Amino acid sequence: MELRLAGTIKESVVDGPGLRFVVFAQGCRHACKGCHNPETWDPLGGTAVAVEDLLGQIKAEKLIKGVTFSGGEPFLQATPLAWLGREVKKLGLDLITFTGYTWERLLALAQEDRAVEDLLRLTDYLVDSPFILAERDLELAFRGSRNQRIIEVAKSLKEGTVIEAGFA
Ligand code: SF4
Repeated sequence: MELRLAGTIKESVVDGPGLRFVVFAQGCRHACKGCHNPETWDPLGGTAVAVEDLLGQIKAEKLIKGVTFSGGEPFLQATPLAWLGREVKKLGLDLITFTGYTWERLLALAQEDRAVEDLLRLTDYLVDSPFILAERDLELAFRGSRNQRIIEVAKSLKEGTVIEAGFA
């Protein structure tokens, strides 16, 4: 199965807690002012890769604690990323997904799109909402602006309300 990829980082310490393999999905429609990765916006940019090959690269990284899906907008490619996320979880790794959608918007999208629901449920921590330049804060852990939240997905779905992570 193919994924349009902007790039990867094999060992990152800035895209979530612990050492992480980061997959940057290509394509984004949010057009946030001040976006650091505008080259990821074009859905036809980047390169097409097989998610099976990405999984092989992830398996080769023996020291990582987890995998982060970033972008771009990962939920625009929810089908291949849900496949990859499922395999990542089978390895005992945790999964963080960044999105420019709000939690509330994603829940609505998940009602219409099974792959969006799958990717959301496979995600341990969701960093939600678009980057807002006026709310930029360089002191925040793992995100760029104060409106963005680090959400514990399973707990939030169970409780029916947003529960932010302790390290947020
Ligand atoms: S969601 Fe992320 S990649 Fe997309 S425009 Fe906003 S900051 Fe850039």
